[in-house]
Amino acid sequence: MREQLGVLRELQVLDEEMSQFEGKKRTLETRVQEKRQELARVQEMVDGLADQMESLKARRRELTAAMEQEQANVTRSDARLPEIKTQKEYVAVLKEIDTAKARIRELQTQMGEIDAQLEALAGDRGEKESELAVIREQVDASQAEVDAELATFAQRLEEIAGRREDLLEKLPAGVRKRYQTLLARRGGQAVVEAKNGACTGCNMHLPPQLYNDLFRVDRILDCPHCNRLLYIVEQG
Ligand SMILES: [Zn+2]
Repeated sequence: MREQLGVLRELQVLDEEMSQFEGKKRTLETRVQEKRQELARVQEMVDGLADQMESLKARRRELTAAMEQEQANVTRSDARLPEIKTQKEYVAVLKEIDTAKARIRELQTQMGEIDAQLEALAGDRGEKESELAVIREQVDASQAEVDAELATFAQRLEEIAGRREDLLEKLPAGVRKRYQTLLARRGGQAVVEAKNGACTGCNMHLPPQLYNDLFRVDRILDCPHCNRLLYIVEQG
């Protein structure tokens, strides 16, 4: 019976080690996950800024083409002036030139506005890209931390798994089942110490007779309140 209790206690220690590892792994993975979401969010902003810049650049190309057209008009009209015979025609051509020049000034103003917008967007984009680089580094660092943690623990997990198997085999089927059921239903805590007359699993007082029986270690006893299997550490 002492041996069975010893097996149960060792199993409990191994299962706790495993569940602590699982918890740590989840925490680390969640952190990486959060960083990845942040990365995606900033990437989306960078992409949005890039799209805005692209459409402004397209608009700028249209304006450039329109301006070239107007400049060609001015050049052509200018070339016609010396050949003009009538005053009326002369005035008309001059008016064409004035209109084209006014249109060119207007286009220049529009292009200047676009350039200012492009500059502001490029600034924002640069900022966001630096932010992105920092987050990307953080993601890589977190991922490396997780990988390292998993790697160092892989060996230990294998040891634990092997040892658990051996230990479970040593238990009678009924005890094994009790242990596994309790482990699942009692938050990973199936075997607990009885101390100062109480169960350390649920902190309830144990009947004095039960507490005394624990010292005899002639059968597996459980807490009447939480059903966890009990052991006692004998002093000295
Ligand atoms: Zn209890």
